[in-house]
Amino acid sequence: MSFQNPVFIPGPTNIPDVIRKACDMPTIDHRSSLFAQFFVPAIEGVRKILKTTTGEVILFPSTGTGGWEAALSNTLSAGDTVLAARHGMFSHRWIDMCQRHGLDVQVIEAPWGAGAPVAAFEAALRADTGHKIKALLVTHNETATGVKSDIAGVRRALDAAGHPALLYVDGVSSIGSMDFRMDEWGVDLAIAGSQKGFMLPAGLAIVGISPKAIAAMDSAKLPRTFFDFRDMRNSYANGGFPYTPPVGLINGLATSVGMLLDEGLDTVFARHHRLAEGVRRAIAAWGMTPCAHSVDLYSDTVTAVVVPEGFNGTDVVNVAATKYGVAFGVGLGEVAGKVFRIGHLGSLTDVMMLSGLATAEMAMKDLGYPVTLGSGVAAAQDYYRKAADAAQMAAE
Ligand SMILES: *Cc1c(COP(=O)(O)O)cnc(C)c1O
Repeated sequence: MSFQNPVFIPGPTNIPDVIRKACDMPTIDHRSSLFAQFFVPAIEGVRKILKTTTGEVILFPSTGTGGWEAALSNTLSAGDTVLAARHGMFSHRWIDMCQRHGLDVQVIEAPWGAGAPVAAFEAALRADTGHKIKALLVTHNETATGVKSDIAGVRRALDAAGHPALLYVDGVSSIGSMDFRMDEWGVDLAIAGSQKGFMLPAGLAIVGISPKAIAAMDSAKLPRTFFDFRDMRNSYANGGFPYTPPVGLINGLATSVGMLLDEGLDTVFARHHRLAEGVRRAIAAWGMTPCAHSVDLYSDTVTAVVVPEGFNGTDVVNVAATKYGVAFGVGLGEVAGKVFRIGHLGSLTDVMMLSGLATAEMAMKDLGYPVTLGSGVAAAQDYYRKAADAAQMAAE
């Protein structure tokens, strides 16, 4: 088995060499002033990527799932009412976590392939005249279906209803790859992980917290110790950590945010959009469609490709892995077998993307799919060529 091929799963993503080297650190004393030299820039960089000036950033040695738990346990109490929509595997798992924490979840069921139901949220918030709902949970980018939701719209719904609920946004597969505006959208808890848009190994939960979320900590009664924001904030005030931090990952994060900010966030988002659009052109050339129900929902970080009747998308993933050594994502939950997923986020170029599309074509051809070899690749090539021409013209 070769480690040379890039992965096309929607996380963990490919790790650039500079980030791998930054993670490879000798032991340092994390209680010395050395630690703050990369810890502080890492935190400040994440704040820029979240587009927050009023919020704070907290890192846990964990993953995105730990970020969910930290967000809930620091701001809520057992029995609190939480509003959420289930429209994919990740929104489903977050709801499950709320229930296991003894929260009373008001679930709006939506089709897998639809976005967060803004109108239904607004109706539920308006109906809640006693303000029992303490939290509104939204998955910015449903990684299971390749669906992006309208967080600005959710904020407008909260405001239109005059509702004070805190807004929690899972941005694990969007932050650092797609535009995210913590302050402008009034996000109170923004959750990310190290291994997706930040191009790092798994191991860090990254949580943005607003002043309103910080205030909510005082009355929140859910138990928390390892994930306690208060211990983190007390130590951060002195440039330190309450327990032993994963220094290599945090040094890697400082490098990662530096890379993203050097490339320019708008350029990063445009690159992800271009990669995604090439993938979508390829899918159309194969005579197939994304799982996302409409163009406004198309994710720029992952596409779930609906396979034709009579085929199982998981087979595409298995053939690509075993025969060609290339990783794609399987369908999860309700869409298991019905889709396979192409991840197009993180450290990827147009040229790398073409190799992924070519591999998907080979695997589909092997399985008897009605696709012509090269058809999707050609459609993506055509798009990438023209996009590069346009970029060159704009630079001249
Ligand atoms: C990957 C992912 C998670 C889970 O993150 P882990 O780091 O695997 O714990 C949560 N939400 C979304 C949207 C994701 O893509």
